[in-house]
Parts: sequence; structure tokens; C-alpha cells
Amino acid sequence: MADVLLDAGVLTRCRRRVHLENDPAYADVELAPPNPAAEQRIADAAEHRLDVIERLRTAQPDGWVSVPLTAQPRERVEATAAALAAGAPYVSGALLPADTEGGRRGGAEVLVRTEHGYLPVIVVRHRITDPGAGAMTTALTDLDPAAAREDAERKVRSHPRDQLRLAHLRELLRAAGYAEPDAARGGVIGLDADVVVWHDLDAPTFPGDRSAMAEYAGRFADRHAIAVAAATGAQPLAQPSRIVECKQCPWWPVCEPALLDARDVSLVVRGDDAVNLRERGVATVDALAALDPAGEPPVPLTGTTFEHAVALARAWRGGVSVVRKVPEVVVPRGDVEVDVDMESFADHGAYLWGALLSGADIGLPHGYHSFATWEPVPTDDEARSFAEFWSWFGEVRARAARRGLTFRAYCYNALAENRWLLGSATRFAGKPGVPEVGEVQAFVDSDEWVDLFQSVSDTFLSTAGKGLKVVARQAGHDWDDPDASGEASMRWYREAVGMDGSAPALRQRERLLRYNEDDVRATHALRVWMSGPAMADVPYIGDL
Ligand code: SF4
Repeated sequence: MADVLLDAGVLTRCRRRVHLENDPAYADVELAPPNPAAEQRIADAAEHRLDVIERLRTAQPDGWVSVPLTAQPRERVEATAAALAAGAPYVSGALLPADTEGGRRGGAEVLVRTEHGYLPVIVVRHRITDPGAGAMTTALTDLDPAAAREDAERKVRSHPRDQLRLAHLRELLRAAGYAEPDAARGGVIGLDADVVVWHDLDAPTFPGDRSAMAEYAGRFADRHAIAVAAATGAQPLAQPSRIVECKQCPWWPVCEPALLDARDVSLVVRGDDAVNLRERGVATVDALAALDPAGEPPVPLTGTTFEHAVALARAWRGGVSVVRKVPEVVVPRGDVEVDVDMESFADHGAYLWGALLSGADIGLPHGYHSFATWEPVPTDDEARSFAEFWSWFGEVRARAARRGLTFRAYCYNALAENRWLLGSATRFAGKPGVPEVGEVQAFVDSDEWVDLFQSVSDTFLSTAGKGLKVVARQAGHDWDDPDASGEASMRWYREAVGMDGSAPALRQRERLLRYNEDDVRATHALRVWMSGPAMADVPYIGDL
């Protein structure tokens, strides 16, 4: 058997996945195709890493050894080892010699030489600080941890996986003979790439006052034991159990049939609740369904109540994934109705407001209306598109009021829409057609604005979550574009506006408009379904 060598990814990965990835019996099974959004994330992260390293090298051109990322792994390891042996001040693209005794392998975006050895600096594509104080930082271009000072404007945003990866790299450096002997530390450069955040890996930053190094040692030993058992055909140390990650996991086609076969309890309660129930002998959906929901739960549940868990188990046995919590479903309706969905690009701006007008005739065309700017955000042209949306929306409300008709507007999870409604009124205050913040606030606070996510949460239990894609499908709605998702839309947007220097792709604009229209049609279908006779077919918790 070849050595089992694990990279830092296993530390935060599902334990069963670690088993499957190391069990030769699963080497040839067909996995779920890669998710385009996940692929895009990987590509974006790679680009971000290259960009940051380029900036570091430009600011401090001397002393770098760059290990070519496109070289074969063996050549990269040799180049890294040679750079370390030569005492290079900075090594980028490093791939460290495998620690065959410890069972680990991995690389760092940058290795930095200090007085006593080397330490890792990693580049990640998420935010690593929040407003506050206390993070130990240096300027981005200063890779000297001795220069780190307590930052008066930033506090550390918790990302255990970053610290665990640094601990993994420290162990690899130690095995190679290059780690600093007395200090376990490392740096992280995040999405904003404005500073380096330095972590003391011996500090008690994990629950129970454990250090990152201690947490790492425990987790790595666990994952390594799972992988060795899998590789050697020993009794498996990890079994499938449904968790949030399953949705994106390529191994779902392997785990789902196994869970269905076992009628595993995690099919209705996910994560730790399933693990705890299993430990108390409630391993199957049937065992959970047989319990008295009014009785004492076998273990305290965290993801849902015991009563709801039992109801979901009973519904699941009848082939249903949604349960009604209320005897009568009430969704506020109006004579004139508008479904609203906004698309934004990260924090840069809301580039599209989509609205579906339906209900009584008020002399305006029914159907989908879009208000977009196709200048890359941030742009002042966003003020124009927002003002056009608000003016059309105001006209709909005014016409309904003049005719004595009631009005309702709907969205799915108002947090995002509210943020951009109020934010746009604030940012573009004084520009033509942009409403006063108070006017927007009055609307947001009114009964005319209905958050359907809240209605769904108040009305249903679901084994599959309450995302619009999940619940609207229950209502019979489907999406025109099979790749449609919030993350995919980010990529389409970049291409639609030519953000990366290429010519704007008009077909991606059409795709975004279709995606947005599909979302407003989804909320429309959902509320019509919730207000109609189909609700009688959704089992009521009191009848289960
Ligand atoms: S599908 Fe779920 S249980 Fe199976 S390996 Fe992936 S995350 Fe783990």
C-alpha cells in the first residue's frame, strides 16, 4: 500500500468523504459532475493568489524564488527544497516535501524566512477581518511578523480552516527541518488584500481554550486514522450522515443511496442532531417517527424542535418532504401585486431590479419588467436604473391607490432587497428620481412589503431546507437555466459587463435577465400555491 498522505483540506472536510477518497473500492465510481459555481470559485481563488503574489513581488522585488505552479509536483517539491536549502528569503508557490511519517503533504502561497527558520503565509479569497480592534497585522507588502502591531481598526474574523492550514504547514516545515523552533505562527492575506493578519498558533483561540496546534493535532490524527482504515480495508471509521455540505459534495450519488437504504435518520434531521440521535439508538427515520412528539426527546436537538423532527420523519415515510405547521395558510394578497428580485455584484452595487406585475388592471402592462445598468458597478448609472425602478414602482402603487385597490409587493428574504433599497437611496441621494431614504423606509416598514421567506418559515417544515429553489419547486415552478444560481450569476455578470477587459457578452445579459425573471416568477408561483387548494395536500403537523 502506498503511503497515505493527506493535505490540509481534510481537516474541515466531511469524515465520510475522507474515507471515500482513500478507499480503493470507490476509485472508479461515478461522481456528481463538478458544480460550475464551485469551479468558478476555484478559478477566482487561483487568480486572486497570483494577483496578490505579483503585488508582493512588485513591492519587494528582491529575494524571491518562484516555484512554477505549472510544473509537475515532483519538480515543484525539488525546487522548494532547493530554495529552502539555499535560504531564500521568500519562496512563492511552494510545495513542501511530503511528511511520509506524519502522513501529510501540502504547499503554501509564500514561505517567509525569519531569523530562526521559515513560516507560512497563505492567500485566501474570503474576508479575514471585521471592523474592530486587536488583530495583529502588518501592511500587505511587509512580510515580517516581527513588525506586526495590534490593529486599531480590524479584529480577526474567525476562520478556523485558515489557522488549521497554517498549523498543517508548520508541521510540514518541521518535518522538513525548516520550522521556527520556538514560535508556531503564520500569516494570512484575505480577499481585501489590504494587510497581512498574523496568527499565533499556540494561543488559545479554539473552543475549550485549545490552541490551533492542539486542535490541528486532534483533527489530523482522526482524519488520518479514517484514511488509513479506508486504504487498508479495515473497519470503516466514518459512515455517511447527511450534512449541509452534502448539497455540494461530488460523493452524494454514492452516499444518498446508502442513506436511503438504511432509512438513515439524517435524511430528516441533519448534522449533529442525527449523530446524537444515532448514538441514543434512534438510527432510522422509522425509529424517530415512532417516538411520541409530546414526550421527552432522547437528546436535546439544536437544528429543530423534537416535535418538528418527529413530524418530518412521519411525513418522510409517506413520501413527503414538506409539512404544514399551521392549520390554515395565510399569505397576504393584494388586488395589485408585484414580485421583486434584485441582483447585486458583491458589495459593489445592485445592477438589476426585476419586477413582475400581476392582478387587477391599472393601465400598465402586466408581466416582467427589468431596470438594469450594464456599466460595471460601482457606477453612477446605477442611480439612473434604481430611480427608474422606483418611479415605475411608485406609479404602480399610486394607480392602485387611486382606484381604491390594495397593493402588495413580494420578495424572498427581504434582507438583501432592503439593504439595497435603503443603501441606493442613501448613496444616490439628490440624483434625479432617487427617493428620500425616509420614503423607502416607510415602504419597507409597511404591510405592503411581504417577505415570502418569512411566510414560508412560519408555514412549513422541510427536510430539504427553505431556499427559494427548494420550495418553489414544490409549487411546481422550475428554472429555465439548469446552471442558474446566485454564484453562477456572478460569473455571468462579469462577462455581461466585460469586467475582465473582454468585450461585454450580450448573451450573458439575456441570461441574467432570464434568471431574474425566473426568480420573480418563482415567488409568484409560490404565493399562488400557498394561497390555493393545493395546501390541503401538504400534511398538517397536527394530523401526523
Ligand atoms: S455526500 Fe455528504 S456524507 Fe457523503 S461524503 Fe459528501 S458530505 Fe459526506
